[in-house]
Amino acid sequence: MRGIPASPGIAIARSRVVDRRHIRVPRIRIEQSDVEHERERLMEAVTESRVQVETAVRALLDAGGGQGDHSLILQAHLLMLDDKLLVDGTLEMISEKLINAEWALQRKMEEVGQMLANLGDEYLSERSQDVEFVGNRVLRNLLGHVTEILESEEPTSPCIVISSNLSPAETAQMVAGPVLAFATEEGTLTSHTAIMAQALGIPAVVGVERLTDHLEGGDLVIIDGLDGIVIIRPDDTLIKSYTEKAARYAEVETRMRSTRDQPAVTTDGVDIQLMCNIELPGEAALALDFGAEGIGLYRTEFLFLDKAAPLGEEEQYRTYLAVMKAMAPRPVVFRTFDLGADKMPGELRSREKNPALGLRAIRYGLRNRTMFKTQLRALLRTSKYGDLSIMFPMISGLSELRQTKALLDEARAEVGNINPDAVKIGCMIELPSAVFVADLLAREADFFSIGTNDLIQYSLAIDRGNDHVAYLYTPYHPSVLRSIKMVLDAGNNADIPVSMCGSAAAQCAMAPILVGMGFRSLSMSPTSIPFVKSTIRSFSVTEAQDLASQVLAMETSAEIEDTARSFIADRAELDFSA
Ligand code: PEP
Ligand code: MG
Repeated sequence: MRGIPASPGIAIARSRVVDRRHIRVPRIRIEQSDVEHERERLMEAVTESRVQVETAVRALLDAGGGQGDHSLILQAHLLMLDDKLLVDGTLEMISEKLINAEWALQRKMEEVGQMLANLGDEYLSERSQDVEFVGNRVLRNLLGHVTEILESEEPTSPCIVISSNLSPAETAQMVAGPVLAFATEEGTLTSHTAIMAQALGIPAVVGVERLTDHLEGGDLVIIDGLDGIVIIRPDDTLIKSYTEKAARYAEVETRMRSTRDQPAVTTDGVDIQLMCNIELPGEAALALDFGAEGIGLYRTEFLFLDKAAPLGEEEQYRTYLAVMKAMAPRPVVFRTFDLGADKMPGELRSREKNPALGLRAIRYGLRNRTMFKTQLRALLRTSKYGDLSIMFPMISGLSELRQTKALLDEARAEVGNINPDAVKIGCMIELPSAVFVADLLAREADFFSIGTNDLIQYSLAIDRGNDHVAYLYTPYHPSVLRSIKMVLDAGNNADIPVSMCGSAAAQCAMAPILVGMGFRSLSMSPTSIPFVKSTIRSFSVTEAQDLASQVLAMETSAEIEDTARSFIADRAELDFSA
């Protein structure tokens, strides 16, 4: 059965099916005189839940090896247990509606879930899952149900957990147990459960529809977290081929892990700085765990997406500061909010006909100056605590950069006491127009970072989210490579560094082309770092330069991609196909 490859690795073992779907909630109307008792029951269940999540946090801390850093997601769950919305809201519901604690909690969870879903945002509707995980845990405690998957029958022999869904806390507890891998019916790549599994190195496949209908506890199962496949009751041939695939992966993974503390250096000794792209402050820990040398792109708009009103300066400041301190003395590049198009907070969701060509990113910021300046002030205030860079998205030309810098100067004057030289100002190059005027922009920016995700979208006229034209979407297109070259040349002439933070920087086969063209800094998702690093350690700059000049002279994407792939094929063993 096919699902989403949520966490890499292969496991073969007997299944253990956990039913997480149905919690039957008793609905009872109560008397005024029972209100206190129900409220107390709720609070007891909340306390019990808190102890359980704390135990999961401890399991991570005890596992050592930096796993404790991944407890941030669970810390967020602990906060939810103190949260006014869910807990206080349920208490009120008990008193006002005169209903039992379970029913009140269920109604409150639905209400909060609905509220998050109504914001119409994919990221947030996923976060509403966290509300569900936390709420369901309290519900199970209220009902006296088993809360921990591993507690129920104490499986001691290695097993694979199959479930409709798993919470991040349940996933976290697998570090100490005999669970080799898991597969769920629900979940997406960016759900916290998937992030947790990746962080802990537990192979996982999520989003496998109707999975639990197809197997029983004790069935032999293969989980292929590399390709997102669950094989139920495999025959001997499949077992043999997957055992081999697992051994190959294990070997490569060991090598990958061993590169964690090794520098990303070419065989002729040139250092390449590998940085991370993050969306949430908690991911800073993940970035460090994967050996990032800094944050090359912090997509700050994610902070705004779940809020009805824009975040205040203090709250922003505290969040940015936490990331800054976690990474210090490493550099952090904050990208000012790239709101608009696909990323809009709820109500403000764009009604434009072509939102990707509409009021987004820097255009949105310059139109909503008060909101923009608030963010700039919050960012500037963190400069005392680390290596701060501020970068602007979707700059189309010099006048936009100038207007933005003028606003930044206003913010600087208001905040005061900022060393102007300490803050570096960068320009994202992600529009073809910016490529063509990169020489002009370079005179007034401290650095460039190329956003290939949008650059490809806008130069090849391909909606980056449209499946129908996805086959055309490639960084190997000669026009994309020529654009990148122009930006590098402009940066070199003006003596400013040029980095890349678009997804092209995370593709192993792109690495030698980029290094050969002259990149010395790349930013990517945390999990891509070991792969790109391993690739970089397998070639010399001289070889990469030859490859770059060869592909820059080529005529088609296919030719370029094939050449790049065969260049790395003999060096880094990154192919795990069964
Ligand atoms: C890009 O466009 O390449 C980029 C890094 O920014 P985002 O993906 O957030 O648009
Ligand atoms: Mg972009």
